[in-house]
Amino acid sequence: MWVLGDQLNRGLGALAQATPRTTRVLLVESQAKMRSKRWHVQRAHLVISGMRHLADELRAEGFDVDYRRADSLPEGLRAHREEHRPGRVLATEPASWDGLTMLRTHGVETVRSNQFLTHPDEFADWAGGRSRLKMEDFYRWQRRRLGYLMDGDEPAGGQWNFDHENRLGPPKGPYAWPAPYRRSLDATDLKVLDELREYFAKGSSTGRTGLWGSDPDGTWPTSRTHALAQLQHVVDTVLPGFGPYEDAMLTTNWHLAHTLLSPALNLGMLHPREVCDAIEGAYRAGSIPIASAEGVMRQIIGWREYVWGTYWLWMPEYRDENRLDARRPIPPALLGAPTKMRCVQHVMRDINEHGYTHHIQRLMILGNLSLLAGVDPRSLSEWMWAGFVDGAEWVMLPNVIGMALFADGGRMATKPYAAGGAYIDRMSDYCKGCAYDRKQRTGPDACPFTTLYWDFLARHREVLLRNPRVAQQVRAADRLSDLADVRTRAADVLNALDDGIL
Ligand code: SF4
Repeated sequence: MWVLGDQLNRGLGALAQATPRTTRVLLVESQAKMRSKRWHVQRAHLVISGMRHLADELRAEGFDVDYRRADSLPEGLRAHREEHRPGRVLATEPASWDGLTMLRTHGVETVRSNQFLTHPDEFADWAGGRSRLKMEDFYRWQRRRLGYLMDGDEPAGGQWNFDHENRLGPPKGPYAWPAPYRRSLDATDLKVLDELREYFAKGSSTGRTGLWGSDPDGTWPTSRTHALAQLQHVVDTVLPGFGPYEDAMLTTNWHLAHTLLSPALNLGMLHPREVCDAIEGAYRAGSIPIASAEGVMRQIIGWREYVWGTYWLWMPEYRDENRLDARRPIPPALLGAPTKMRCVQHVMRDINEHGYTHHIQRLMILGNLSLLAGVDPRSLSEWMWAGFVDGAEWVMLPNVIGMALFADGGRMATKPYAAGGAYIDRMSDYCKGCAYDRKQRTGPDACPFTTLYWDFLARHREVLLRNPRVAQQVRAADRLSDLADVRTRAADVLNALDDGIL
């Protein structure tokens, strides 16, 4: 049985039924995968250390584990077959389109995945015949179907959605944010870190590949045991405060009251059902308010599963969507070059230190800048996939192509999430002290987001005028008396962005 690097749980799919008597387990570390991207060191470390922890766990249970380092995944499989001559090779359905193709090409039988609450077949059934796949419709279907936060047929708390309580700007004064789960790195973690440093020091690093970012500090679980401890910590200390400030962005705190469970969930160490059961239990016990419980439940059974479902429904064509014809490469400011944009500075600092920023920093700083500047969707998706500890193609493609960059022409999002400096100022403490002035759209001190926002509306005028949710803003751009100056300034801003001097 072949266990892939994002199926790190004894209870998942095919592995759930396996016994040491009947099954040998194969795990493969692929050098080709390692060299395929410029990975954040915490991301690479998390996957490899997680694989080795699972191998140890299975060996302790009595399994014969064939743990291989190979040039590529198929090469690892070939070597395994040659050495052990298994009658058949099984795997749980993988989480990526290319993974599925690879398994089929190499004659690996797949077993239905239970890694999500909604199998792609179930999502396709739900989607069938609908003209629009609205996340809110899907989420309510999930709530009813799965029974989470339901009182009979009615939503707990009397309403489906507590977003209006969960979208506050930053708190005005000091605020006691809950400390994230953290543990010491164990011997396996330390060994993997040493090996990664050695591997990339030996010349396996080029401008396009290699490692970046700060070393792991024990924030991210690398085993099922760590992941369960993190979940308990989250239920006890983080969830009671989750919600009100989930969209706020601060220079002084990188995690706020976010659960930070996405890496463990996306690598399979935690199952969404056990996370949802824990949320439901804490809500029923009165230890978390309904707005917090609903806010996080919406992310797990709603948005996360919706993204998973759309990925499988729309692949493989979806990854080449680029309806706004965005061709700009990833700006140097996202690749380590210094920037005067204080918002980007702080988001990049958080990613560098933790391989993580929360959803609004991803959508409204990184995604928004890329949308306004016209960054190539596939490139941004791959950059996020490699740079975030919870990255994967299935999660980044729909979030980048559908949500952040409007590259699918509105199949997922009903409007582009474009915003100028005013939104960022309302939701963060970034703008005070920035070299740029969020209120200005022209001149050398103009906020790049504000300038590019108006330029974006003018640049894509014909397309956006057809969208009733943004047509009014396009007409407002038409009425700007200084639109010609804005567009001149925008050309300078884009040049400076490309040159890494913005
Ligand atoms: Fe970012 Fe503009 Fe605010 Fe500076 S003024 S922090 S560039 S939004």
